[in-house]
Amino acid sequence: MGQEIAERYQNVAAKIEAAKQRRTTVPKDAAVTLVAVTKNHDVAAMREAIAAGATNVGENRVQEAKGKFAEIGNSVTWHLIGHLQTNKVRQAVKFSDLIHSVDSLHLAETISSEAARIDKVQDILVQVNLAKEDSKSGVYRENLQEVLQAVTKLPNLRLRGLMCMAPNYDDVEKCRPLFREMYKIYQQIKEMGLPASNIDMLSMGMTHDYEIAVEEGANVVRVGTAIFGPRQY
Ligand SMILES: *Cc1c(COP(=O)(O)O)cnc(C)c1O
Repeated sequence: MGQEIAERYQNVAAKIEAAKQRRTTVPKDAAVTLVAVTKNHDVAAMREAIAAGATNVGENRVQEAKGKFAEIGNSVTWHLIGHLQTNKVRQAVKFSDLIHSVDSLHLAETISSEAARIDKVQDILVQVNLAKEDSKSGVYRENLQEVLQAVTKLPNLRLRGLMCMAPNYDDVEKCRPLFREMYKIYQQIKEMGLPASNIDMLSMGMTHDYEIAVEEGANVVRVGTAIFGPRQY
């Protein structure tokens, strides 16, 4: 099992490097952070990935992440990628290095005030629902400027960029225009001169579409199944 995880992790890392070489609209050498998404996999699996070179891990549920954090600690970078309820924020800010899934001003305000309680400036991404899928959270394109402006006024947050999830198309090529559009938006918000921000992350791409996401400018990808195999629920 461990061997398998190590091999799969290295295979994904190699595919990311190959995808960078296929970039046409984005600098080929811009680095990509691979977040190993360990949700629904145990600490042993997480340790295997770390042994194989993983330095960034992603979880989508606070309770599960908290338990794993207690065992693994902060030798790796912790990404919280799932929809976050306000009543879980106090726990989340304790261990999250980056929260990808900020989808409302209300959530941002809660994160800022909970971060303030522990003297932390919390790095966040704002999640964009570009395809306006009902099944997904995220800010709509037309509200994004306004939300970003409000979020960057909050004292204990630092905006680091944007996150999105593409629809689960059978034909994965259909994701490409959406990723390309996200990269444009990302470039635009870099130029907005938002206060208290350091915009350097565009988080997009999962197991079925990360190669296309990297080709179109993702610099953070969140990959679970391709590393750990299918999740058992
Ligand atoms: C589960 C999850 C992933 C990883 O999904 P895979 O298809 O297993 O790679 C990425 N991003 C988010 C937000 C997730 O919840």
